[in-house]
Amino acid sequence: MADKKVALNAMDKIVSLAKRRGFIFPGSEIYGGLAGFWDWGPLGVELKNNIKREWWKSMVYEKDDVVGLDAAIIMNPEVWKASGHTEAFTDPLVECKICHKRFRADHKDKLEEHEKEHDKKVEWTKAKTFNLLTEVYLGVIEPKQKTYLRGEITQGVFVNFQNVLASSRIKIPFGIAQIGKAFRNEITPGNFTYRSREFEQMELEFFIKPDEKEGKKVFENWKKERLAWYVSLGMTKDKLRFREHAPDERAHYAKFAQDIEYEAPFGWSEFEGIHHRGDWDLGRHKLIYKDEETGEEYTPWVIETSGGVDRTALFFLLDAYHEDTDRIVLKLHPKLAPYKVAVFPLLANKPELVKKARGIFDQLRFSFHSTWDERGNIGKRYFSQDEIGTPWCITVDFETLENDTVTIRDRDTMKQERVAVDKVSDYLQNKLQ
Ligand code: ATP
Repeated sequence: MADKKVALNAMDKIVSLAKRRGFIFPGSEIYGGLAGFWDWGPLGVELKNNIKREWWKSMVYEKDDVVGLDAAIIMNPEVWKASGHTEAFTDPLVECKICHKRFRADHKDKLEEHEKEHDKKVEWTKAKTFNLLTEVYLGVIEPKQKTYLRGEITQGVFVNFQNVLASSRIKIPFGIAQIGKAFRNEITPGNFTYRSREFEQMELEFFIKPDEKEGKKVFENWKKERLAWYVSLGMTKDKLRFREHAPDERAHYAKFAQDIEYEAPFGWSEFEGIHHRGDWDLGRHKLIYKDEETGEEYTPWVIETSGGVDRTALFFLLDAYHEDTDRIVLKLHPKLAPYKVAVFPLLANKPELVKKARGIFDQLRFSFHSTWDERGNIGKRYFSQDEIGTPWCITVDFETLENDTVTIRDRDTMKQERVAVDKVSDYLQNKLQ
């Protein structure tokens, strides 16, 4: 119990820091907010963009056999019929007979918590299936055309399967990568950005020739690669694990499905799924592949890696949060940190220091997202940058004016080094590699 309290406290601290420092704000807050919607502030948008950029680099630019795509959020409703979403994209919903609050029947811990709130055994309604797709209505003539905001970004890839093949020289095996928004009318949004109603996904659909052995191998390779990607960006390895879907939670078409989970303050939680979808999707859309060399035609199998940007950003924040004796430090990987470097003149009221520092800042900002601070004393400026994860702080002092060197202070070790001004850019570049 004590442990659970400490853990939840960790969550409160991140929620508060995220708001105070401009990472994440409650959506439409001045009108009382809207459950399950979040706005990413000046630092949050940088963190998210950095995550997405690193993902794109590793999944598209560094691969011979993967191309990118950015499909529309709203599609012809026939897509959602064919994919099975209008029928089966559902969660089981139950209602508390005392207060009529609704919950997901499969979220047993939430049901137990609710019983505790009432301090008695709650009677629940029978579980009903509840479709998660968000409806939208288009056009001016009644009845308006009903369609949906996409519930997953995946279908946009399948409906463009032929277009991508025809317009690029790619051949099976190959992948299509995409990052974009998805929307789900979640019954109980919660745990900050973890369960939102609007969120971003980053997904790869990898197409292979149907073959059991090959399918298993490709699935295992992607599992390994995806886990390694999180670790390479600094996520604590011991807080990551795979979890195999139980037979009753696996989509009926899935051959294998495993989640990557993070040990969050609210328990082990999925933030990426690796799914072997077989020929389900292309089959439903009646799409086939023709091998130009052999003339053979078949429905490819799909291995998918499906991650959530908002959950990933939350877990990177939680993982990076540290309290030293008198400072809060976000030990974000430098590639993910919103600012790479902060530049300070030692004293704000010495024009020669300010001018020199400004010159360095104006140079660095072309290559590194940089920030400027001249308020208060140096110690306070360091702490302020530590709290938002800025890996390096550069101070221009009187010695700079004499020998053209600056101090570079490291966020994690708090050590300072003297570096020649014309070497600063290389110094940062090397560290960032
Ligand atoms: P859950 O069981 O938690 O509802 P899911 O298994 O339905 O998730 P998928 O359909 O596999 O999730 O979606 C792939 C990824 O998209 C998830 O691993 C997660 O990172 C992200 N995602 C899904 N639903 C949400 C949501 N409501 N809010 C934020 N991210 C989400």
